[in-house]
Amino acid sequence: MGRRSRHAQGDHDRVSETGGGKGKGTRLAVAGRRREWTGPIVNPAVWRASTMLFDTVAELKAAKPEFAQFHYGRNGGPTSWALAEALTEMEPGAGGTRLFPSGAAAVATALLMVLEAGDELLMADSAYAPTRMLCDTLLKRYGVTTRYYDPLVGEGIADLIGDKTRAIFLESPGSLTFEVQDVPGICAAARERGIVTLIDNTWATPLLFPAVARGCDISILACTKYIGGHSDVMIGSVTVRPELVKRLDRTSKALGQTASPDDAWLALRGLRTLEVRLQRHGESALRIAQWLAEQPQVARILHPALPSCPGHEYWVRDFDGASGLFAFVLNGGDEAARDRLIESLDHFGIGWSWGGFESLATPSDPIGLRTAARREAEGPAVRLSIGLEDADDLITDLKRALAHYPAG
Ligand SMILES: *Cc1c(COP(=O)(O)O)cnc(C)c1O
Repeated sequence: MGRRSRHAQGDHDRVSETGGGKGKGTRLAVAGRRREWTGPIVNPAVWRASTMLFDTVAELKAAKPEFAQFHYGRNGGPTSWALAEALTEMEPGAGGTRLFPSGAAAVATALLMVLEAGDELLMADSAYAPTRMLCDTLLKRYGVTTRYYDPLVGEGIADLIGDKTRAIFLESPGSLTFEVQDVPGICAAARERGIVTLIDNTWATPLLFPAVARGCDISILACTKYIGGHSDVMIGSVTVRPELVKRLDRTSKALGQTASPDDAWLALRGLRTLEVRLQRHGESALRIAQWLAEQPQVARILHPALPSCPGHEYWVRDFDGASGLFAFVLNGGDEAARDRLIESLDHFGIGWSWGGFESLATPSDPIGLRTAARREAEGPAVRLSIGLEDADDLITDLKRALAHYPAG
């Protein structure tokens, strides 16, 4: 996308091509930078607005609340359009993106967009807990039934599809337990039956897993995590195939969804460096995971790039890399000992979220959440979000803390 193509794009969402043969870093540098949004500067300004002014009543009446058109604040402005377009451009085959005030709002809107009363949803048993909560409460109340499936079901998903099945939700790797799913297999089976597929692609981002190109209809990101990358913003996105853009747009509007321009600006700033950050997160996390695998206090590593992770073969086949979030299962011991281990770490913060420049360690207890596929663990587990610190310092920290762990 050169200087020329930044002009005269019309008022519609742009269909993402395959990147015109350009590398990801190049695309990240130019995506969404339409000249009419940035003016003469590199980045779009923060366009804060509720009201947008027109010269005449006729112009006011003629304006439509469409993508890239000035209308009213809820329809966004150049800052959020630039981020939305950049996210579309990073997802080959996609037709448009809408932004949300959080990843959870993005998940909710995407589900409400495809489901109606009487429908059944097939939901990965490894899904993010608030996603489950939405299914078990609000969606249920509105007449949508959710059936949880084993994330490792693969093409066997075809046997679970019933008359009322309308959508299949994937999350790969899964939250807390990191099962990698056979996304192309599941999506192909769904497509054959005319069933829509949604994926929570927060772990990989389109850089490591181009979800639409791999067969998904709808790709959801908690941009709060790697896109923002600095633990200072809450924002979410939904990116869809061209034929679903209108429906996404209508549903977002009906639900009054919008993202603040300040948050869009922070996320866009984060997006520009996503590739180099992910490389560093990925390299350090893999090194630390491999080191942990050798420690007697550690029973198992749940890292998609290691063979001990369920669905590792799909990661090898389908992903372009690994990010910095993984878990390890301790060899015996109890939750109290595990919690002390976490608290004794110096370089790992204790707090929710992940994908920021600073490392985090949290308990990782899926037991009680899962209903379709419980797997026994050898001990309590710890989830690590590996930040941008030096891996050597993080290993030294983990080594010191593990030395006090009562190995089983
Ligand atoms: C954090 C997260 C979300 C929700 O994003 P928020 O911006 O925190 O609402 C959704 N899915 C996954 C996998 C997440 O980790």
